[in-house]
Parts: sequence; C-alpha cells; structure tokens
Amino acid sequence: MDIYLDYNATAPLRPEVATAMTAALELCGNASSVHRFGRLARRAVEDARENIAAAVGASAAEIVLTGSGTEANNLALRGIDRPVFISAAEHDSVRAARDDATTIGVDSNGLVELTHLEDLLTAADAPALVSVMLANNETGVVQPIDEVVALARRYGALIHCDAVQALGKIPLSFAALGVDMMSLSAHKLGGPQGVGALIVRDGIDVMPLLRGGGQERSRRAGTENIAGISGFGAAAALAGQAVESAPALERLRDDIEVRVQAVAPDAVIYGGDSPRLPNTSCIGLPGLSNEVQVMTLDLAGVAISAGSACSSGKLTPSHVLQAMGAGDDAAASAIRVSLGWQTTAGDCDRFIETWSALANRRAKTDVAERSVA
Ligand code: PLP
Repeated sequence: MDIYLDYNATAPLRPEVATAMTAALELCGNASSVHRFGRLARRAVEDARENIAAAVGASAAEIVLTGSGTEANNLALRGIDRPVFISAAEHDSVRAARDDATTIGVDSNGLVELTHLEDLLTAADAPALVSVMLANNETGVVQPIDEVVALARRYGALIHCDAVQALGKIPLSFAALGVDMMSLSAHKLGGPQGVGALIVRDGIDVMPLLRGGGQERSRRAGTENIAGISGFGAAAALAGQAVESAPALERLRDDIEVRVQAVAPDAVIYGGDSPRLPNTSCIGLPGLSNEVQVMTLDLAGVAISAGSACSSGKLTPSHVLQAMGAGDDAAASAIRVSLGWQTTAGDCDRFIETWSALANRRAKTDVAERSVA
C-alpha cells in the first residue's frame, strides 16, 4: 500500500469535508442573488465563515475568503502601501509578493533575528509592514510571533503572519497572536485545494487585488467558490480536534528522528532545537542528494518531499535552509517528512526501513570510495 508522508504539501481530504462539498455542489444559487437559491448559497458561505472564524479566534467579519494561501499572502503584502520587512524563511508567495521587500535574517535554528528586525524598524523612514510566518513549511520551526508583535508595535508597524502551516497542527488564535493580518489555506488541514483566507483586523483597509463585484465586503471580487468554501468550513470545524491528536503525531515524528540518527549519526535535523510543528521533520543526510532519496522512497511507495523548491522539474537548494546557514550541498541533501491525520506507526516504519537501506548503502559507498582513494 502506498504511504503518504507529505502533509505539508497538501493533506488528504477529510471525509467530512467531502460530504460538505458534495452537499454544496447541489446548491445552484449565486450567493449574491436575493432569491431563495441565492440565499441558500449565501447561508453556506456564511456558515463556513463562522466555522473558520471560530477555529482561529477571529470574528466572521474579519475573514476575507480567497482562492489560496498564496492569494491571501499577496493580498496582505500588496494591499498595504508601506515598506515591508519579511523573514528570510517565508514561503515563496510572501517572498515574491513585493519586489521592494527587505529581508530579516533567521539564525541557524531558523528563528527570526529580532535584533535585525529592530535595526530595520529603527532605520525605516515610514511605519512598516512586518511579515513573519507562524510555522515554516519545510522545517516546521515556529516563530516567536508574540515577540515580533511586541517589537513591531513599538515602531508603529503593522504585522502580517502566514499561518498556513499552523492551522490544525498547533493552537491558533488570531486574537491572542495580536497580529493585524493572518493567512490560511484549506488544503493544509484536510480541506480542498484552491481556497484560503486572509484574516484582516477590523479597522484595517487592504486594497483589493481583484476588483469587480462587491463580494467579501469589496476586499475580494468574484463569485464565491461555494463548494470549496464549504469544504474549508468543514475542515476548520475539525481543526481543534486535529490539534488535540497532535501529541500522538509528535511521538511518531520524534521516533522517526531517533531512528534516523541511530542509523546515520551524521544526519541533521534542521530546526530540531527550536519550537516546531509536531508533524514535521526536515532531515539532512550528508552525501546523498534529496532527489535520490525522494525517488528511491517513491519507488518503494513512500511519498515524502525534498526540502527544496521544485520548479519546472528542477530542484533548487532551499532558501530556508540556506538562510539557516546550510551550504548548497547540505541543503541539497535535505528531505521533509510531514505526518497527518491518516499517518500510522506502520507508515513511519516503512519510511524508516527504506530510508535506512539508502543510508546504509551510502555508508558502504563512502567506505568503498575511501579504500579506492
Ligand atoms: N504559505 C505557506 C507557509 C505554505 O506552506 C503554502 C503552501 O505550501 C502557502 C503559503 C501557499 O498556500 P496555497 O498552496 O494555498 O497557495
């Protein structure tokens, strides 16, 4: 049986989500229409919005539904006309949103350098927008957002937080985080792909990326994706329960790391000394490219990902690991294993068996190469 350990890329759809989406597909109304069909569609959108709001400690009015986490990040960064400072570990959808963004360094543990942020805030000639993610998609490292907020507030900055990887994995409250904007994406927690949200604190004006109709209180024009939004709502309703079962996943993840280091003591766990998501492990195996690891595991029926960006079939070293100080070779040997709601101990065993065989073969090749030299 094939094994899926790539939840940070996308999580399998939850059955409750499929049920909600199927019901929503039966609705024929446009949520902007005033007749009964339209009202039913509107009800579906607003019910989902309530679920999302409840899952993240926000009010329904603060939620702008979008077509992805990428769109939410773009709306946050491009919708606010201020100098922007982003952490070096951000997702590409934040990194590419603004050409004029200034990068805040991260340390070797993947944590944002607050002194660097303070230097940037001090030197800024206008109040800034600071964008720091809650949890990193490659390493799982969780940033000290409360410290970022406290610092940024002293300089009158607004704060955006990409929480796409956090929802359903760790407790998440927009109100408690104290940020001004927060991005979410449904498919990272068992909802459908192609739906996201930007939570915008009441009183903050974001300029819409998409203009047209007055949907989403004129912050995002376009007829609502009723089935997708309903699926997001159903997934959000399960987020609390998912967080409660996270300690079991964390035990599986920790066990993987112990076994990895028993087989290959030189294996590196990126971000292993930082607060991390319970489901994520970013493992570097010096001397063995992540391409080989991903392909060998795939042939054995185990899906994981390379800890690098893959665009047009070409792997480039991860900017996240490079920002943490990993060299190109080290970054090119890193894989990401990410667990989720369907993961079993047996799945982790299968990963370890295949990966150990690879690591042992690497050790033998090393010895052979040394004896030839
Ligand atoms: N932000 C983070 C941290 C992510 O991991 C991702 C997806 O990988 C995104 C944003 C983009 O979300 P979406 O796939 O919904 O566009």
